[in-house]
Amino acid sequence: MANTDNVGLELFLTGLRNQHAVENQAVSLLSRQVERLENYPEMEARMRQHIEESKQQAHRLEELLTGLGSSSSSLKDAGLSFMGNMAALAHTVAPDEVLKNTLANFAFEHFEIAAYKSLLALADTVGQSGSRSALEQSLSEEISMAQWIDQQIAPTTLRFLQRSRAGTTAGV
Ligand code: MG
Ligand code: FE
Repeated sequence: MANTDNVGLELFLTGLRNQHAVENQAVSLLSRQVERLENYPEMEARMRQHIEESKQQAHRLEELLTGLGSSSSSLKDAGLSFMGNMAALAHTVAPDEVLKNTLANFAFEHFEIAAYKSLLALADTVGQSGSRSALEQSLSEEISMAQWIDQQIAPTTLRFLQRSRAGTTAGV
């Protein structure tokens, strides 16, 4: 039954490809941000860790796609309209860049959480339960990152305010 569900399998494959593109976007966005976080060393360290996690997440998705016989060339074509908008926000270099990026990163991680939950729901339904452990591993990393960012929103805002009052916000 499950392995004749072509519509379901196609939806699952599309979800895997889209999330692969999102992971590459994450690596690119975070890599730009960490270069300008010298005044927020804890954030820089956590984001560098998540860059490595995101690379592993992309790799997990590649392995799932390869296992399903999907060609790697199709990975380049995945659409990314929502994340494209997030990227534009995160690329903005503004005096309050660190604040804007913290809010955007929080949204980004929650987009990823939703994407992995959606893939997990599909995996069972289309007979791809073997994908669960890889997807759950990535989901747990996204939840951890989202929780970490959540805890940073207030202190980062107050630190930015403190630096603004002291006139030291140049370079974030
Ligand atoms: Mg990710
Ligand atoms: Fe993430």
